[in-house]
Amino acid sequence: MRPLSASQLLTLWEYGLAQPPWQRAITLLAAAFPDLPADALVRLPLGKRDDYLLMLRENLFGPQLTSLATCPSCGERLELSFLVADIRVEGLPDPGGEHAWDQDVELSLSMDRYNVMFRLPNSLDLAEIAGMSTLEQARLHLLERCLLSVEEDGAARTVADLPVPVTNAIAERMASADPQGDVQIALNCPNCGHQWQTTFDPLAFIWIEINAWAQRILREIHLLAGAYGWREADILALSPRRRQAYLQMVMGSA
Ligand SMILES: [Zn+2]
Repeated sequence: MRPLSASQLLTLWEYGLAQPPWQRAITLLAAAFPDLPADALVRLPLGKRDDYLLMLRENLFGPQLTSLATCPSCGERLELSFLVADIRVEGLPDPGGEHAWDQDVELSLSMDRYNVMFRLPNSLDLAEIAGMSTLEQARLHLLERCLLSVEEDGAARTVADLPVPVTNAIAERMASADPQGDVQIALNCPNCGHQWQTTFDPLAFIWIEINAWAQRILREIHLLAGAYGWREADILALSPRRRQAYLQMVMGSA
């Protein structure tokens, strides 16, 4: 992984603002993992993409994650604190290593009279279903894209022929083959004792953080440029510690 400078991150944020979420992920990963070709990035199974995003998050902002949740039973606001390592699935290969992800892994399922071959969903699939009007339509189209072959007693069939238990089993199989794609966090309300699970979405989380970081850094540039007449590029090139030291002087003299 290549560490991103403040200037690079600000540029990526600016690009990402105009992009749909799936493309923001690719923009960030393409900059942070320049050794991975763009067409390999968009074909990464989504859980593996999320694993890369978590590695990038740790590199940018450190290992500690803080998030807020609301108890569905009593409405209490909870602050959750956990480590990137707590939600990363063990044993995934190093993306920079020789054994980078095998993108073309084929999965198979035999159930009742059906034999199905399929692959895991990736960013290109998300791009394809982004404009669909209903969730059900999107789900069906995603499945259709990921199916490599469908047979019933040896005769070719389409996705529309598959009974619900079979499509459910395919979805389960996809989830277990790409475990980083569905991170569940167990919560326990200190106020009422209610226990529940919440889904953690690394892409949404990291984008909110980058957005907040960008707003903060733009404000700092505004203050320092106004006080010292420095250029944006020079202010971004300062280490965070030095930038904070100057900011304190500016705020102290205001
Ligand atoms: Zn509660």
